[in-house]
Amino acid sequence: MYRILLDAEALLHPTGEVHARPLDQRVDEVIARGWDETGGGDDRSVGTSDGSATARHNPASDQPASDRPAFSADTFGVGAGSGPSGDSAAGAPSSTPDLSGLSDEERRARLDALHERVRTCQACPLAMGRTNAVPGEGVLDPLVMIVGEGPGYHEDQQGQPFVGKAGQYLDKWLEAIGLTRNHNTFIANIVKCRPPNNRDPKPEESDACAPYLREQIALVRPRLILTVGRISARILTGSTQGITRIHGTFYRHEGIPLVPTFHPSGVLRNPSYRRPVWEDLKKVRNWLIDNAGHVPPEGGADGPGE
Ligand code: SF4
Repeated sequence: MYRILLDAEALLHPTGEVHARPLDQRVDEVIARGWDETGGGDDRSVGTSDGSATARHNPASDQPASDRPAFSADTFGVGAGSGPSGDSAAGAPSSTPDLSGLSDEERRARLDALHERVRTCQACPLAMGRTNAVPGEGVLDPLVMIVGEGPGYHEDQQGQPFVGKAGQYLDKWLEAIGLTRNHNTFIANIVKCRPPNNRDPKPEESDACAPYLREQIALVRPRLILTVGRISARILTGSTQGITRIHGTFYRHEGIPLVPTFHPSGVLRNPSYRRPVWEDLKKVRNWLIDNAGHVPPEGGADGPGE
């Protein structure tokens, strides 16, 4: 724990400045500042990964609410009300393809082919409004697979996940626990095409798109899944509880440890989520150190985009 806090400290003070204040106080300052200037803003976005404004923005959108659209509990073969890790409630759906015997080359080839299918997919109405589908990107065998809700404006324009302001903030989160999107992560979304006005995906849309993410997970084989935001948390855990209740809890999805946390855009909008996100990320990092041989670089970060 002490090492993690020191690494967070290093993110704020890369020059090696000496501090006399108690470490906890300094870490509180890290959290309060959102770890860098990116997080201090007036971002208006919610849910989507680009940080763009949305008509459905509501400061309480990460809170449990009765008027949210329902999602199919069977979208990922996860029954509603599934419990946290330890009960293995989120069992593997019978339709999950058996890809366990593939070589790395075969996995990459199948992943590339899958992404090509996504780019021309017409399986749900979201195809009508997209500029580009956003299949996802990253490495095979990542330490962490990040799963968001769906593309936003910038992602739709560029065809890449998390490339807007929220994506830059996500990069800082990864950096804080010694990860980078190009080296040891894979980033994807529940739906691969942008919903109109960044609204929540409809159940039939997330259901239609589910086979793509299911196959991505089977091909990529992440050590841990980090869901960001309430939509992906609800769908992949099957929990009906709000993200404010289940964040930081270890679940299992098809045998893979899964931790829900808040969406970067929600944290940019609401600074009170910074501390719980940091606590969630520390859990992820500790798990990776203890179970996946993760050795964070000295200083706690190897920098985004390296
Ligand atoms: S959201 Fe998914 S299922 Fe719908 S058109 Fe796009 S790729 Fe196909």
